[in-house]
Amino acid sequence: MSNFRHYIGELIKGNSFFGPKLIYRYSVISFAAIHILLGVLICLSDQFMLGLVTAIIGCLYFTVILPLAEKENYLLTLIICLAEVIILEFITTLFIGWDAGFYTYLFCSISASFYFTYITQNRNRHVMPLALSIMILLVYYIGYVVMKYLPPLVEYTGKRAAWINVFHVVNIFITFAVMVVFSYLFVWEIKSKNLALTAQNEQLDELANKDPLTHLYNRRIMNKLMEQRMELLKKTGKRFTMIIGDIDDFKRVNDTYGHDAGDLVLTTVASTILSSVRSEDFVCRWGGEEILVLVNDPLETAALAAERIRSKIENMVVSFDNQEIRVTMTFGITESIPGYRIEHLIQQADDKLYYGKKHGKNQVVVKLEDTPPQE
Ligand code: GH3
Ligand code: MG
Ligand code: MG
Repeated sequence: MSNFRHYIGELIKGNSFFGPKLIYRYSVISFAAIHILLGVLICLSDQFMLGLVTAIIGCLYFTVILPLAEKENYLLTLIICLAEVIILEFITTLFIGWDAGFYTYLFCSISASFYFTYITQNRNRHVMPLALSIMILLVYYIGYVVMKYLPPLVEYTGKRAAWINVFHVVNIFITFAVMVVFSYLFVWEIKSKNLALTAQNEQLDELANKDPLTHLYNRRIMNKLMEQRMELLKKTGKRFTMIIGDIDDFKRVNDTYGHDAGDLVLTTVASTILSSVRSEDFVCRWGGEEILVLVNDPLETAALAAERIRSKIENMVVSFDNQEIRVTMTFGITESIPGYRIEHLIQQADDKLYYGKKHGKNQVVVKLEDTPPQE
């Protein structure tokens, strides 16, 4: 039951898990059922031979056309089905008359031919269904003209005349249902293609803009984001702050625990920082174990955020091979200054980071003179 709900949910979202094979299989089975139903109705209306032929064609859908579809012989399947619908429609119209509405199957064949050529990615998918539609239109006109001048081969008189209404209602209903189903299938197909494209775009974005190890933004996209923020500063005066952090003595982590442990520490630091900032702030892997955060706040607020991050990292324990690894991080902070170039701002933050490294590490340097020289 939960599986069923899951599938329905996926269908509503537009996720496609039916390939052309499944679509063809269920369509052929449905067409067979429709033929058998119509065959039985025609028999009941006393046209035993015509009804029998229709029902036998229904059985042929199971025995001949279904295996063709299963062998993925889609084009042949489609052509046989369409030819059969056109011929049988013509014959039943000749026998039972125009008012019985068998000609309406021509119309749903148009939607079906577009849909089926589309899902099989047929090379001629733009031309073939159109050509088929024009042919179907011609068949319709020929049938119309013929039936204008010829009476039906079988007269449905007296009580049996009601059968014409029954056929009309049933045929219109089936045509309507088939057209609605194929239109929905088309919408669903487009929806699922759009979803696939969105997922692909997200993957491409991830490849182009994210660092594969930490999944933080890379330097390339961060440069663009900083330029954008600089533009916003010029236009609206909205200040931002840059925080550059570098893991302290990281070489030692690699040397002591190995490069894999170093990687794990780096990814844990990255996710700790990412979870400590807001969604409008950007976190980027600026270099090896250097991380740059673009905070959407003025210096004072950003400094508090940096201090919070520093303390979280100081208290963070990374377990690797039953060993507990602890690291600290030093940060340099600088606020955006209108008219300054990005490189100058980065240089300022870097200078502060360098200063912090020189003066004890594990600290946030907001102003150079704030940190008293140690030793
Ligand atoms: P400091 O406190 O002065 O920063 O000392 P440090 O040892 O951290 O020195 P530095 O920042 O110069 O060292 C960077 C080291 O980070 C060197 C390099 O081997 C390591 N590193 C850079 N990228 C990666 C990575 O992706 N994975 C691992 N495991 N190590 C990396
Ligand atoms: Mg370092
Ligand atoms: Mg470094």
